Amino acid sequence: MSYRIVGETGEWEVVVGLEVHAQVTSESKLFSGASTEFGGEPNSHVSLVDAAMPGMLPVINEHCIEQAVRTGLGLKAKVNLYSVFARKNYFYADLPQGYQISQFEFPIIGAGTVILDMPDGTTRNIGIERLHLEQDAGKSMHDQDPRRTFVDLNRSGVALMEIVSDPDMRSPEEAGIYVRKIRSIVRYLGTCDGNMEQGSMRADVNVSVRKPGDTELRTRCEIKNVNSVRFIMHAIEVEAQRQVEVWESGGQVEQQTRLFDPVKGETRAMRSKEFAHDYRYFPDPDLLPVKFNQEYVDGIAATLPELPDEKKQRYMADYNLSAYDAEVLVVDRETGGYFETVLGRGDKGKTRDAKLAANWVISNLFGALKAESKTITQSPVSADQLGQLLDLISDNTISGKIAKTVFEEMIATGKEPADIVAEKGLKQITDTGAIEAAVDDVIANSPEQVAQYQGGNEKIAGWFVGQVMKATQGKANPGMVNKLLKEKLSG
Ligand code: MN
Repeated sequence: MSYRIVGETGEWEVVVGLEVHAQVTSESKLFSGASTEFGGEPNSHVSLVDAAMPGMLPVINEHCIEQAVRTGLGLKAKVNLYSVFARKNYFYADLPQGYQISQFEFPIIGAGTVILDMPDGTTRNIGIERLHLEQDAGKSMHDQDPRRTFVDLNRSGVALMEIVSDPDMRSPEEAGIYVRKIRSIVRYLGTCDGNMEQGSMRADVNVSVRKPGDTELRTRCEIKNVNSVRFIMHAIEVEAQRQVEVWESGGQVEQQTRLFDPVKGETRAMRSKEFAHDYRYFPDPDLLPVKFNQEYVDGIAATLPELPDEKKQRYMADYNLSAYDAEVLVVDRETGGYFETVLGRGDKGKTRDAKLAANWVISNLFGALKAESKTITQSPVSADQLGQLLDLISDNTISGKIAKTVFEEMIATGKEPADIVAEKGLKQITDTGAIEAAVDDVIANSPEQVAQYQGGNEKIAGWFVGQVMKATQGKANPGMVNKLLKEKLSG
């Protein structure tokens, strides 16, 4: 099921490539010792280098180099042992140097691959063209004063990784999955916190359209600085639609930089190609080329954590989970860790039932966390406690249904599951005599239904189970109830 825009002349295919800017997790900036902390007073995290005072020289932050290499390895990309910082020249009030230090011809990371997990269980490979390091600019503040614009340089010089994809995506959905996957990978690696609300990740979105089956790309437009997954998807949708209308009305899509307005749900031209910047890139004479050897790269590779793709494969192979379940559980390290602790030390050192554990985490726990707007690290129920609850189900102390009641209480109070079961008298009735008495009672009081059952209406069996469960406040072991009812009704 390909995504298609249907116009007056038939169907159109959408072609998307993304440039994701990801802020490097680092205490200090790319070329200065100033803090990168979010939310400081304006201009409180600015060194003389960041303010571009005359005579100041940039000094490369080695940690940022390491983070870029880690990210490259996580993207299964080629790490270049030789790379060069270049000046990208343009004038803007929030760029005091008059140029951005970036990488151009020789980026630190070359081609790689990101695997998208599609909702139907299939996967799609998206090519990564390159990843380069560059500085962020400052921020113009237009809303502080009616007449003047102020500049905050706190972000000036913060290290960014620009991750450039190939034009491999074919729908807004794929672009959304791609950005989420990049975010998941950098979070696993600890190289970017992925907080789009705080601007630590944002994307420039390249969109063009063409007729299905065409091999040539048509002119693209670039939508700048989109800062949420939802907006990225929405921007692609409306921009592709706009381009289809331009082509179909006999016009030409112009190569442009555009802005997405999420309120109006439209993109607007910022500047056209004839006004495009001529950046006059050249190697920054203040910085030497970055050179390291393969041992350095191998050393970083040795410290890489298990990444979501590998973890997903392991969950599917070792625990027999579906692609969907595995994928949901590997979304971040914390969720994977929680799930593995739930699986962990079961009865007599055995691991607990993986499918049961996955269901409880995905349906019950995620549901409860969502209702309380909490993340998994803020869960009122610890992984150990959830594991204990599963043990109570497995050893028939409580039924799966009663377990849901116990779980709600655990969410509300944080109490241990065994204590809740004891306090509320929820222990399952497994005493055959007690269940038999309840079954006999129901049968004796329901001659009409018994006649129906014996007349061949087997559907009414469920009604009997319901009556017995009601009589035992839901505490009778359902398996035993079923067995006894069957024996007695047909006997
Ligand atoms: Mn950039």
